Amino acid sequence: MKLAALAFLSWAAALAVVPAADPGAKPQEPPVVDPGPVGGPPSDAIVLFDGKDLSQWRGERSAEPRWQLGDGCMETRPGGGIFTKQEFTNCQLHVEWASPSVVKGDGQGRGNSGVYLQGRYEIQVLDCYNNKTYPNGQCGAFYLHNAPLVNVCRKPGEWQSYDIIFHAPRQTPEGKVTPGSFTVLHNGVLIQDHIPVGGEPTTAAPLQGMAEKGPLYLQDHGNPVRFRNVWIRPLE
Ligand code: MG
Repeated sequence: MKLAALAFLSWAAALAVVPAADPGAKPQEPPVVDPGPVGGPPSDAIVLFDGKDLSQWRGERSAEPRWQLGDGCMETRPGGGIFTKQEFTNCQLHVEWASPSVVKGDGQGRGNSGVYLQGRYEIQVLDCYNNKTYPNGQCGAFYLHNAPLVNVCRKPGEWQSYDIIFHAPRQTPEGKVTPGSFTVLHNGVLIQDHIPVGGEPTTAAPLQGMAEKGPLYLQDHGNPVRFRNVWIRPLE
């Protein structure tokens, strides 16, 4: 078959599967959302941690999370990370965290924790203020996949924010993977710009394989790291 004929056939096939837009259709009015205070949570978010209790969480190795609660935040404790009881697919996530104000260790041993979407894909938490490590393992990296665009770490002990837009990778019954994506703002600054998320979980992820839904996981990496104001908006 001639190339031109092939091109026409693929064009015609594309037309057949894309529904024609109705030029007269009125766009749906977006729902009203109260953004709440600066940093949220907005009125349509699921609040996962508001500083008062750990009722939305379970321990990695125990039913009850063993992290320390106090002063409007929670802090990692040895003995594993914590999972949300709810599971999510695509989402907008807000997390605030702080590494210890008293600096101990260096490289990967300074204020290390992590935010794992679906318990599988890690955005690294690390004190990278005057602390060098490998770029795709530094603060805000999609761990071992992609370094952040910039290092926008605040000083040790200061509160920092992650705003993460996550689209989960998908798998067909035949095993073909459609990549998802990470877009991340650290302290309001873009550090991951629509980076593909394949089906391979991060090294040391507590959950392996792929799943349609998975819990949010916050890592215990043996360093005391605090978290507060955690909320999520599922995007379906
Ligand atoms: Mg980590």
